[in-house]
Formats: sequence, C-alpha cells, structure tokens
Amino acid sequence: MIELTNITKTFQTDKGTLTAVDSVNLSVRQGEIFGVIGYSGAGKSTLIRLLNGLEKPTAGTVTVNGQEISSISGQKLRNARQKVSMIFQHFNLLWSRTVAENIEFPLEIAGVAKEQRKKRVLELIELVGLTGRENAFPSQLSGGQKQRVGIARALANEPEVLLCDEATSALDPETTDSILELLVDINERLGLTIVLITHEMHVIRKICHRVAVMEAGKVVELGNVLEVFQSPKQQITKRFVAQIT
Ligand code: ATP
Ligand code: MG
Repeated sequence: MIELTNITKTFQTDKGTLTAVDSVNLSVRQGEIFGVIGYSGAGKSTLIRLLNGLEKPTAGTVTVNGQEISSISGQKLRNARQKVSMIFQHFNLLWSRTVAENIEFPLEIAGVAKEQRKKRVLELIELVGLTGRENAFPSQLSGGQKQRVGIARALANEPEVLLCDEATSALDPETTDSILELLVDINERLGLTIVLITHEMHVIRKICHRVAVMEAGKVVELGNVLEVFQSPKQQITKRFVAQIT
C-alpha cells in the first residue's frame, strides 16, 4: 500500500514559491490500478515522482509498503526504488543498446549474475510480447514496441509498484489500447500495484479501478472509476467525463 500523508511540494522559481502539490492525502491499495488525471501543470508528475523518491516532499510523508520513502536517501533509497519502478512517455531507452541489453541494464546495476540475467531477460521479453526482437535497437522499433521494452525493463527487478507517467501519450489509439491491455495483464498476473498518470479520460475508464482528479496541486475528487463516471461532482471532473461521452 502507498500512503501519502499531507504531502506538499513547493519549488522556488524566479516568480517566487510555486506549490506543485498542495496538502495531498491519498492511499493506493495493494494490487489496484490507480489513475491520476489532471490538466497540464496540475502536479501529476511531481506527485508520481514523490512516490519513488525522485522528489522529496517539502512537508508530509510518503510510505510504500511500510517503508517511508520520503525520509531515506543513498543506498537505502536506491534499494527501495527497485520496488517502485517507472515508465515514461518518451520511453527513456538507451539508444546504443539492444532490446535485450536495455532490459538487462537494471539487472546489471542490481548485481545479478550473468546467467541469471540472460534467463530473466528472456522471460521478460516473452511477457511483453517482444520475442524475436531481442537484438533490435530502439530506433528500429515502433512506439508501442519501445514502450514494451520500457515495461520489461521496469519489471526486471520484480517491483511491487509500477508508476506510469503518460506512458501512452505518445502512441496512437490502437497502440495505446494494446499497451493498456499489457498493463492489465501484468497487474493481474503479477499482482503489481499500478499508479498511472494521464490527461485522457478513456485511459482511466479502460483500465483503472479508482481515480483521483488533480487541479492546481490538490486532489479535488477521488472515487471508483464507475462512480466518478456516473456522477462526477466537480466541474473539472465533468469536463474530463465529457471527453468521452
Ligand atoms: P503535464 O500534464 O504538463 O505533464 P503535470 O500535471 O505533470 O503537467 P507537473 O510537471 O507536476 O505537472 O508540474 C506542476 C507544477 O510544478 C508546474 O507549474 C511546473 O511548472 C512546476 N514544476 C515542476 N517541476 C518543477 C521544478 N523542478 N522546478 C520548478 N517548477 C517545477
Ligand atoms: Mg507531467
């Protein structure tokens, strides 16, 4: 379970103090697919980066499966981060490495023995449906295939949580659907908790169990996806729901 207690994150800018995340309380349940939706600048990426310690909160605490992420650093944080993995809109692959080598990379960092690494990479390639493309370079892959590599790499060290920051925003609708189906498959097969950020309500409707709506750093609405679709309370939520109805 992920617990955010009174989380605030501010940044110092030329124009003064900017509050990116404002007093957020949230808990994400073990094994659920939790969506966060909001317009650009709402604070979604900052929020998700707080979950794996890429950002430190200005105030409040973040706990992931009993471990307080917000107060640790160094090797302790690196170990904890293996349990909270992330995929990105632009995939963030290593362009000079093959598919297999990209997926192997976090296993190398973790000090896994070579033979075991090779075996794990093959399992992951099969899991994400890239069998036969092991030796391709990222530049030779479609967007959907690149994201499959990103997902396999994120799963390499058997995380408990997968964070997805606009993971399908660079993809066409059909490819988006196939990646979302893969995420559901992984959630069901591995029992992995998924936190997904998007600005597209159809992504939420397709795979999320619960959703939080963010506006100006705050969570303004939270509930089961079906309920939120049937009776959105806030104006902003109504606008998101209207995207697809
Ligand atoms: P988008 O949909 O465009 O990705 P977002 O909801 O992910 O938006 P954030 O990236 O979390 O929004 O940004 C929230 C606010 O915090 C924005 O006003 C942004 O400019 C500001 N911000 C984020 N990171 C920093 C930083 N490192 N320094 C200063 N300001 C920042
Ligand atoms: Mg963002």
